[in-house]
Amino acid sequence: MGVREGFEELYGAAPEGVWAAPGRVNLIGEYTDFNEGFVMPLALPHTAVAAVSRREDGVLRLHSADIEGPVVELRVDELVPLTNTSWAAYPAGVVWALREAGHAAVASGADIHLASTVPTGAGLSSSAALEVVTALALNDLYELGLTGPQLARLSQRAENDFVGVPCGVMDQTASACCVEGHALHLDCRDLSIRQVPFDLASQGLELLVVDSRVKHALGDGAYAERRAGCEEGARQLGVTHLRDVSYEELDGALERLTDERVRRYVRHVVSDDHRVEQVIALLDAGDVRAIGPVLTDGHRSLRDDLRISCPELDLVVSTANASGALGARMTGGGFGGSAVVLVESTDVDTVTKAITEAFAAAGYTAPRVFPAVPSAGARRVA
Ligand code: ADP
Ligand code: MG
Repeated sequence: MGVREGFEELYGAAPEGVWAAPGRVNLIGEYTDFNEGFVMPLALPHTAVAAVSRREDGVLRLHSADIEGPVVELRVDELVPLTNTSWAAYPAGVVWALREAGHAAVASGADIHLASTVPTGAGLSSSAALEVVTALALNDLYELGLTGPQLARLSQRAENDFVGVPCGVMDQTASACCVEGHALHLDCRDLSIRQVPFDLASQGLELLVVDSRVKHALGDGAYAERRAGCEEGARQLGVTHLRDVSYEELDGALERLTDERVRRYVRHVVSDDHRVEQVIALLDAGDVRAIGPVLTDGHRSLRDDLRISCPELDLVVSTANASGALGARMTGGGFGGSAVVLVESTDVDTVTKAITEAFAAAGYTAPRVFPAVPSAGARRVA
């Protein structure tokens, strides 16, 4: 059953409209966002789809086709941050963030029914898809006139302050602003964006996402530790953020750092910002194949300098490259989640088979492999 039919069955009337917002995968630029550097995500074909109608009585009704359980019913004027630990906190948080930002119209409520094809917990931002689809639907229905970047920031606020997850703005910006056939260059200092052509199909290429099926619990503490280490590095180098250390200055900067751990983190961040710039230059020149080695370089940096990879992700990358891929790297926060692999279309089956067999031989859970076709950002679909 589609979300439109699901909505009708739940709420007894047709929805006013249907919206979709995608998950994302980050091509290059990892742990650079909080250093005010560069990231380069692309939207996936997988989307959260929401059927939505306005209400007039201040009630917010929420339902997900993917979650067992009844309709969640809340009052907009009673939404309190950090009090709801269920999935409903994501869309409810968006309503809260809109109201907090002065968009009083949303206080009259909404009926929402959604379903998503974005895998959860694979580092592909199923949460951002949920937030952005809610934000866009309410923006359209209540005629708020907000832009994609504004909807992204409000969605991030919902996740940071209402749900209580300290994420950057990349995921929501990708979901809200991406354009089909492009990757998104986001400058995390001024939040400016540029669509960079990333046309894989016409080049006979595919970008595979390999979900390692691993999620290590140590992820959260390790993120905070890396973040503190980067801040320490910036402090010792006399800059506000590592963004301000250029790639040309890197060697000199590393000589001035005494702590081996801080030195590794700085080397990762400054070199990954540089890799984003390399990838952009290559894509602008139409040389898509040449980004392969840059991706693999990025993986080495995440594995050896930032030390956030894991045996499963390392196995994806080494097996992919040994079986004919053009390049590969882990993507996202690390310690599990997914990797991206750039391959010739003709080699997809060989590389996929090699990775699957390597996982079986190592006794790991079978990975999930699918193509990351650079897709459209959030939009109204009916
Ligand atoms: P991700 O990397 O996928 O964004 P998160 O932990 O940030 O992982 O978000 C996953 C959470 O988002 C789920 O635990 C659930 O609360 C919510 N979520 C994602 N997809 C759905 C869905 N289809 N229906 C309901 N909740 C969802
Ligand atoms: Mg998330």
